Amino acid sequence: MSEQAFMQRTVTCGQLRSQDEGKTVILNGWVHRDRNHGALHFINLRDRYGITQVVVDDDAPASLQETAGQIKLEYCIAVRGIVRRRPDSMINPDMETGEIEVKAEEIEILSKCDTLPFMIEDENNAKEDLRLKYRFLDLRGKGMTDRIVMRHKIVKAIREYFYKTDFLEIETPTLIRSTPEGARDFLVPSRIYPGKFFALPQSPQLYKQLLMVSGMDKYFQIARCYRDEDPRGDRQLEFTQLDIEMSYVQRDDVLALMEDLFGDVFRRVLDVELPAHFQRLSYNDAMNTYGSDKPDLRFDIPMKDFSFAQDCSFTAFTDALAKGGAVKYLVAPHSDKKEFTRKYITELEDAAKVYGAHGLAWMKVQDGKLTGGVTKFFQEKEAEILAQTKAEEGDMILIVAHENWKKCCNSLGAVRSKLGADLGLIRDGYAFCWIIDFPLFEYNEDEGHWEAAHHMFSMPQAEYIDTLEENPGAVKGDLYDLVLNGYELASGSIRIHDIELQKRIFRICNFSDEKAQERFGFLLDAFRFSPPPHGGIAPGIDRLCMIISKVNTIREVIAFPKNTAAASPMDDCPAEVEDIQLKELCLKVDVPEKK
Ligand code: ASP
Repeated sequence: MSEQAFMQRTVTCGQLRSQDEGKTVILNGWVHRDRNHGALHFINLRDRYGITQVVVDDDAPASLQETAGQIKLEYCIAVRGIVRRRPDSMINPDMETGEIEVKAEEIEILSKCDTLPFMIEDENNAKEDLRLKYRFLDLRGKGMTDRIVMRHKIVKAIREYFYKTDFLEIETPTLIRSTPEGARDFLVPSRIYPGKFFALPQSPQLYKQLLMVSGMDKYFQIARCYRDEDPRGDRQLEFTQLDIEMSYVQRDDVLALMEDLFGDVFRRVLDVELPAHFQRLSYNDAMNTYGSDKPDLRFDIPMKDFSFAQDCSFTAFTDALAKGGAVKYLVAPHSDKKEFTRKYITELEDAAKVYGAHGLAWMKVQDGKLTGGVTKFFQEKEAEILAQTKAEEGDMILIVAHENWKKCCNSLGAVRSKLGADLGLIRDGYAFCWIIDFPLFEYNEDEGHWEAAHHMFSMPQAEYIDTLEENPGAVKGDLYDLVLNGYELASGSIRIHDIELQKRIFRICNFSDEKAQERFGFLLDAFRFSPPPHGGIAPGIDRLCMIISKVNTIREVIAFPKNTAAASPMDDCPAEVEDIQLKELCLKVDVPEKK
């Protein structure tokens, strides 16, 4: 063995306690803080486990003093020293190692640090692009480290759950055939077959279904998925799903498995006991009551139909109903957090308009009476409205009317969400719920045809199968979403395993038999060989970690994410490639000039 080249740690920076007093230890880590009091040096040494205070006493030998004098922030150093209890007055209860310090006997500088682009703090307040450019440093901060460690624990607990319940972990390819699954595919040119392309999977959907045909009846995978989408909202071009598929199951089996999985993971990782079963809401009820198919159930404020709209003199309401739409209200409770000023009502209205609302009607309860806004149209009904809405002194009744039911619900749902946040109504904790009975199809106005609301492989509910084509908009699917705290955490479905039914769905979604054969031939072929009934689901790992870590973007729980403009400032990609690389692929780049 070669001689040890540097002092190698015997303990981590998070490990030492008062019972270690007197031990000689070696620590390795980064200089988190460095204070000098004359010849007395205090160095806070940090690694991912914690921080330990190292002291170079004022009577330390000159050579040690000299090394200590050279030390700067974030230098990587090794310290050999003796653990000693801090004097009582110096004990730091906020530090896990706060009872002790290490009296340095030898310090070795392992590597020096350039001028830092930002301080390494628990949470980094630098601009996000700067954080991402120096992500390797950003990750040194406690907040980021804790989140990456939490993510690791969650993924580990998930894997352990599936191992103990007899699932097989199977990898599926990431160079696949381009098969439309809702979003745009990332394409990978083939050098060996010039002019041909692989695609990166939007999810392993078809492969997991094929695995069911192969008899791998309980499959899971922590899978990377790729979708070439425009940068908007909190999206990443690549994200991670827990992908699951099972044979011989019905909807309730999948839901029960997920409840058991999350129960187990939350218990083991967070010591949180979840309810044995999660509340179930039909898509229609969720939309009607919460204005969203991913309702945040950590606060109440239910929405209801504004029945007084039926025969009122306010045409905005009567017109919406006459056109087959809806008029819905909610009661915003009075609150000392927010005054319901005109300005605030405008803010709420703006939130509603994002979802297509024409406006937000309101009435306020003051001195036991309705006042302001649209009150004048409802004067005779005042008592009835107060009784039915149960609006109390200082409350606001907020109403949205729209000729389109979904837009009406979504608009008022946005108002509900904003109120929940602004009035501080959101309870702590985890509110899981299932959304079931989704429509199977959605109409694509731009392209003028039906398309799958989830994906084309989901089973219609039995009662609709004979008459799918007659009114696709009315067909309910055997689909389910798992929602947590207002986020869609997972979606899944029972799958079609019958070729003819699958072809009918393709046709409704504007895929002729030829086009379907060209794109999905391998699936249809497999379905000729006795596919078992099967179904599955795929929870998003990034979202789960984000919610558990109480941050509001998935970038905070991904080690090396892309920024909000879908690029990576650290390795500066996407980037141009060498001409020779393009040549090998027989590709020419033709970028239109920017105007
Ligand atoms: N593949 C689906 C998705 O990515 C999930 C599923 O149906 O299992 O949304």
